[in-house]
Amino acid sequence: MEAYRKLLLLLVLLLGRASTSVLDNRIDQFELDNSSENSCNLPDTLLQEIKTYQPIVNKIISGIVDGQFAGKTWESLSQLVDTFGARLAGSEQLEKAIDYVLDRMKEDQLENVHTENATVPHWVRGYESAQLVTPFKKNLPLLGLGTSVGTPRGGIIADVLAVESFKEFESITPDQVKGKIVVFVPQWESYGKTVVYRSKGASVASKKGAVATLIRSVTPFSIGSPHTGGQNYEEGVKKIPSACITVEDAEMILRKYRRGDQMTIHLEMEDRNLEPFVSRNTIAELVGTKYTNSSVVIVSGHLDSWDVGVGAMDDGGGALISWKALTFLKAMGLRPKRTIRAILWTGEEEGLWGGRAYKDAHKTNEKEEFNFFFESDIGTFEPRGLDFSGNNDAGCIFREIVKLMSSLNATDFETPTDGGPDISHWTSRGFPGASLMNKNEKYFWFHHSAGDSMAVEDPKNLDKCAALWAAAAYVVADLSVSIPKDVID
Ligand SMILES: [Zn+2]
Repeated sequence: MEAYRKLLLLLVLLLGRASTSVLDNRIDQFELDNSSENSCNLPDTLLQEIKTYQPIVNKIISGIVDGQFAGKTWESLSQLVDTFGARLAGSEQLEKAIDYVLDRMKEDQLENVHTENATVPHWVRGYESAQLVTPFKKNLPLLGLGTSVGTPRGGIIADVLAVESFKEFESITPDQVKGKIVVFVPQWESYGKTVVYRSKGASVASKKGAVATLIRSVTPFSIGSPHTGGQNYEEGVKKIPSACITVEDAEMILRKYRRGDQMTIHLEMEDRNLEPFVSRNTIAELVGTKYTNSSVVIVSGHLDSWDVGVGAMDDGGGALISWKALTFLKAMGLRPKRTIRAILWTGEEEGLWGGRAYKDAHKTNEKEEFNFFFESDIGTFEPRGLDFSGNNDAGCIFREIVKLMSSLNATDFETPTDGGPDISHWTSRGFPGASLMNKNEKYFWFHHSAGDSMAVEDPKNLDKCAALWAAAAYVVADLSVSIPKDVID
């Protein structure tokens, strides 16, 4: 089977290098049962072809990291966030930032610069305050969670019930919960595991009659700062106010509660949900020399942010490297066979609304239209490599492309991806995609907090991320073959 497969691939390559859909179909028919490098059996012609990109990859990287473009990505990001600040979905700042980016993309002489509409939720934070009133007075810094309702005017004063986990909460009767403010204090395990307390805490507590929930911020580290984020109310459950408090305060409340200390909190929140708002995804292209509107390579990040900090890290960095990858390639006179399309998503934070609207609008012809999806949304610290989602053959090809990034010391390859929320609209259905792996161990220290500022972003690391992005997108877009995919409808 292996020898047959290699021969067939070679034959297809020789017969028609332009006939990528034929290769797609052939590869799709193979058994895709392995994920280690040993299972890769690419034709030598393709391996050799990928190696021929080494000089051009080195040129892209040195131009962006050490050449005329060094420092430009950080400069553009700082201008964006210093001009508009935070960019919450539904806000005037976000829409002004979108207009600004469109103008700058045109100045960069990018092609087909335009927006496509996406309806997003419009939640606004109002005045918020929480205070421990008994047994002593202490302000509790807090941040209401996206979609949270507010309290009645003047706030609520209620007794506290604190638990570490949903499991612990199961054993508590509604009688004990009724009328209380429930404080969830989960230990940090990982973002994926711990975030359920933020997203579901209000519904879980409300079902037993709680009047509000306060949740330990979803972060491994804190210096007294609360972290916001999205949350969802379950259908049919009474909507109660929900906010995150600092790690320090949450843990103190849990310790005191376990000692039997009676506590009362005064909580006031004027947060509210307005009518949904029509925002826009921001799009620009470097049009391919051979394919214009088919087999497109997407590079992306989200332009919206939470309303605290300025969203330089989440996800200004990801948005900027996607935009500037095109700018730098164009300025270097490098135009691949396929179109590279930068998409700066809107409404990501409230639930991937920009990506969803784009998927729906491009559904009919999506298998022909899209070749590959890149997304950077887990930091733009020093890059390590790229993680990948897709079928085995696609992974084998992509692994070879990542090997070209040795001058950045960014050759790590992992599968499946750990990031890429917006492109999950496609990667979850079998489209190939990649996310930027970087030394982001401190990402959640700053995430969704006032600490998400330009101070987190390092100019040299941003250059390296932009270089990796531009070089990988260029090679994927210029290869003689499309990246194979098995799409589930
Ligand atoms: Zn993000």
